[in-house]
Parts: sequence; C-alpha cells; structure tokens
Amino acid sequence: MDEDAADEYLYTNVLIVTCDAAHTIHQDGVLHVNAGKIASVGPASQLAPLLSRGIPAIDGGGRILMPGLVNAHCHAADCLFRGLIENLPLEAWLAQVMQVEKAVLTAGTSLLGAQLGYAELLLGGVTAVMDMYWFPEQNFAAAEKAGLRLAGGGIFFDGVGMDGVPDHERAERARTICREHRGSDRLLAGVAPHGTYTVAPDGLRAAWQVAAEENGFFHIHAAETRAEQETVRDRYGETVVRHLSHLGMLDGRTLLAHCVHVDEEEIGLIAASGAHVAHNPLSNLKLASGFAPVPRMLAAGINIALGTDGAISGNDIDMWLAMRLAATIHKAATGDATAVSPRQTLHMATLNGARAFGAGALFGSLEPGKEADFILVDRRAPHAMPMFDPINHLVFSAGRGDVRDVFVGGRQVVREKKLLTLDIEQIGRSLDGIRSSIAASGR
Ligand SMILES: [Zn+2]
Repeated sequence: MDEDAADEYLYTNVLIVTCDAAHTIHQDGVLHVNAGKIASVGPASQLAPLLSRGIPAIDGGGRILMPGLVNAHCHAADCLFRGLIENLPLEAWLAQVMQVEKAVLTAGTSLLGAQLGYAELLLGGVTAVMDMYWFPEQNFAAAEKAGLRLAGGGIFFDGVGMDGVPDHERAERARTICREHRGSDRLLAGVAPHGTYTVAPDGLRAAWQVAAEENGFFHIHAAETRAEQETVRDRYGETVVRHLSHLGMLDGRTLLAHCVHVDEEEIGLIAASGAHVAHNPLSNLKLASGFAPVPRMLAAGINIALGTDGAISGNDIDMWLAMRLAATIHKAATGDATAVSPRQTLHMATLNGARAFGAGALFGSLEPGKEADFILVDRRAPHAMPMFDPINHLVFSAGRGDVRDVFVGGRQVVREKKLLTLDIEQIGRSLDGIRSSIAASGR
C-alpha cells in the first residue's frame, strides 16, 4: 500500500512506547490512524477485531513505534553557520554570531537555513519544533513544505535586529503572524522576545500583549548565563525570572529557554506560575553556561521540555544527544546517580515539549484523539540488542541513525531514512552557492 495517500491505516508488529502519563508500553502493539489522528492504540491481543476489518495494514517489522520528538528550543536556520565560530566565551561568541547573521541573513537565506535545519530535524525523528528566528515567516514557509509541526512567532529585539525590522513594527508583525495561523494545529504561532537583556520592559509588554490577545505562547531566553543575570540586575534591580514575574509575564503561556542560573525562590516562582522551561544541555555545556538545576526544577513540579538550541551553539540539532546528555550530566553535577531518570528524560523530549507549546492535548504522546505524529526506530542494530527496557534503550543507546520512518499528522515524511518532502541535494547546491560569502562574513 502507499501509506502516503491512505487516510486510514494500521501499524502492526511494532513495540509501542506511548509516552503517555503512565509510560505505557505495548510489546506487540497496533496503532490505528484515521484522518491524520490516532484512532486507537493498544496491544494486538486487544485490537484483534480491527485487523479483520480490511483496513490497510503496514507491518512494522518489530521496530519501536514512538511519538515524534519535540524540540522545545531551536534556531534552525543558524545551521547555515555550523562550525564557523568556535571556542569563544559567550559574549565574544555572540558578538561574532550577530556579525555573520547581519552580513548573511535575508529572507532567502533564512528560508534555505530553515529548510536545512528542518531536514536535519525530521531525519532525526523530530516532528515538532519551537523555532525562534529572525525571519519567522520563512520558518512557516519552510515547515509547511517540510511537513514539520512548527511553533514560531514574531521576534522582539531592541534596536534594528538582524532582520532590519524597526522596533515599532515588531508588534504588528507578530500579530499578523498569529492571525495568519490562528486555528492551525500544524503551524502554532506566538511571540518570541529574545531575552530580558536584549528587550526592555516596553518591548516585553508589547510582546506579552500580542501573546495574550492572540492566545499564543511567549517564548524567551532566560537566565542562561551569569553575565545576563548581572546585566539585568544592574538595569532593573532584580534577576531575570523575578523581573519577568514582576512584569506579570510568567504563566502557562511562558516558555523559558535555559534557566541555568536560577535560585530556589526563582524556581518557586516558575513552579507556582505554571511557566515551562526548555533545557538545552549541549548548548549549556559548550558555551560554558553551566548546569541548569534540572533535578530541583523537576522536584518543584516545573514542566521541563528539551531543546537543542541552534547549530551555532551545538553544531547539530540532535534531540537524541540532548536526551542522553539530559539523562547523564545531572547525575555527575549533583553526585546523585538517580537524578533525572530515563522516563523523565523521554517525557522531556516528547509530552513535556508539547505541553510547553500549549499543545499537550494535541501531540507528544500516542493516545486516541491526538495527532498521529510518530516515528519508527530500528531494533536490530548491534547497540539495540538485547533490549530489556525500551525506554532505557531510547535514552541511553539509541541515536538519530536508528530513525527509519517519520509521520506527522498521519502523513509519512521520512521513509527508510529518506526525506520525502525536501530535496537535500538541491539544498546542498544552494548552500554551495553562498558558502564563500558565509565564510567571509566570519572573518
Ligand atoms: Zn537559544
């Protein structure tokens, strides 16, 4: 059968890791998809009547079938600058990043960068991404073409940013994006003010107002570095999270990227507000930002999602590496080998991400009524055998090379490791054409 075109189909002979609240696993499972949504999911023994109804069936060959991964913090188009600026402290690094972004970025190069990043994400089993970038309209165009679920929105940044948009136009631009995608389950819109050290309270208020009026998310970098905390304390007399709290900008629509430098009171403020945190372990390691207090934030009941940050702070945007780091670095950092369990980690990379997008009822786990966003993971690779606990395997041994098939909203976008929606050769040729100008901008 051509599962591309089928509206209704079954996946059989698969080990299903549902990532539901109870971490339910079906060793011999069946997934029933209808009109892009999950109609039912369960053990073959229970769903046997479905198999005799003549619904087209795909034999999953014993692979693991699990929800697509949710990348909760990314700057995908920064893949254009992968490996260009390395081995610098954060402030010097950021100054150079902004220099090359300013020199290279246009709507056209942003579209190319987003397509490059989304190809990498989809092939790595990511079906939804929160992408903060200078040309969000290009992100939406690229996501639509790629078949990726995107959460994106208007950037807020004081002064003229890399996109050339003046301050006074940002709110209207952000509002237009929200209105264009209102009601869409595939393209989720909100606002993305860069940070409290790059956006003054007036700009933050304008962003918040758009998010509140348009019912979108509010995604912001927060408490990533010590220097950022000192800058914000010098300017406003209080640290980043307290500043956001006093501005009334912590609630269920808020997604804070990083939260590396937060004290107990700030953890309490985030927890009480219902705001979400996107943890980015590789970026925090490589830029020497520090270790986010993930175990303490989890214990406080904060919804922690997982992200890769951009390829300029982590070189690739690999959610499997993010999972493995999230599940290991906090053990070393706290001296507690039980810190951040594999089950907590897998939820951070799936269901918690969807919740952080305000879309916990829409995707993030395999449950009836949700969007059919799922991936097939190889089980016959040497590093996958023997497999006693599939969740331990997915977090500690599996990698993106194991991802064979990817479906978003029931539609297949990767088949046997081949991306069906974007032409990677063509993307590569376009990159070849601008490679030397990107390299020159970094000097
Ligand atoms: Zn970031």
